[in-house]
Amino acid sequence: MSKFWSQHTHALKPYTPGEQPQDTQYIKLNTNENPYPPSPLALEAMQQAVSNDLRLYSDPNAKQLKQAIADYYQVDISNVFVGNSSDEVLAHSFAALLNHNKPLLYPDISYSFYPSYIRLFGINAKSIPLDDQLGINFADYQQENGSIVFPNPNAPTGIAIAVAEIEQLAQQHPDSVILIDEAYVDFGAQTAIPLTQKYNNIIVVQTFSKSRSLAGLRVGFAIAPTELINGLERVKNSFNSYPLDRIAIEGATASIRDKAYFEQTCKKIIRTRETTEKALQTLGFNTLPSSSNFIFATTHKMPAEAIYLALKQEGVLVRYFNAPRIDNYLRISIGTNDEMAKLIQKLSKIINSH
Ligand SMILES: *Cc1c(COP(=O)(O)O)cnc(C)c1O
Repeated sequence: MSKFWSQHTHALKPYTPGEQPQDTQYIKLNTNENPYPPSPLALEAMQQAVSNDLRLYSDPNAKQLKQAIADYYQVDISNVFVGNSSDEVLAHSFAALLNHNKPLLYPDISYSFYPSYIRLFGINAKSIPLDDQLGINFADYQQENGSIVFPNPNAPTGIAIAVAEIEQLAQQHPDSVILIDEAYVDFGAQTAIPLTQKYNNIIVVQTFSKSRSLAGLRVGFAIAPTELINGLERVKNSFNSYPLDRIAIEGATASIRDKAYFEQTCKKIIRTRETTEKALQTLGFNTLPSSSNFIFATTHKMPAEAIYLALKQEGVLVRYFNAPRIDNYLRISIGTNDEMAKLIQKLSKIINSH
């Protein structure tokens, strides 16, 4: 608290990111980073971009990257928006498209950045509880609203919703913008991008951080009807006209063009997830059905917080949320096969000696 802060600053609820330890070597399974390196073509493109050209501003419109994304998803470049991380794209979306007189609806257990944006932009919002299975049930969204936002698959549950259901939602709420945050969609869910070509109220946000192993580069994008993209551009150009630097534009462009590498790493992670789910179940865990690069797991054998702390002692970081209904769960990111084998070995030791 400080007398120099504006009233608005006092009222904010900043997001708390997962631990990013700078000292000890941990097996890091707490922030859903990709265990595999970025595409070698992306690394090479970025190395090339480290040149005298860095004295020049980057393209404020990042046209090359937008075109590569448009080509990949077979949409027009006017349907693509890019930003310095999907968190930034989400922030612009909350400001430009989700702030209306009628409430913004969002799941109560979901990406915890949404409440931060709601505070930051003073949005009238209402959280909708997940159902008994910790799933999003659109029947609960049949009420007055100005906009709707949810991740698909949801975080931290990993549970995906079928695109057919999202299409129904778009039809039921033709005057509401519906934002689908697809940070994890590449690990086994269906993208809603085709709906953006058919409905004027759908926006899909994705990131290079998870499935493309570029969390450190900070690149995200949105695909939506041009009318919605133009709203985002207005906010972006009122905030930062050069959000993507030259290195990020080159790296992200090469990354999205390297489809083979991307598909191969996603497949590896899905396979590792499946073996890890089985191993966790053998240890007595219940796992929610995951379509993402993490597993949300709980056990009656020992409190989740105690397991989290014991794992940390053993050099393995997972994510624990001290929040109602999920405070006996652990969110475990999928690492390499070797990392997951070590996790299972340490978990087994911890639970058996409890
Ligand atoms: C990781 C994550 C993001 C943010 O991704 P960045 O592009 O790294 O900012 C957005 N939404 C959800 C649900 C996430 O888990």
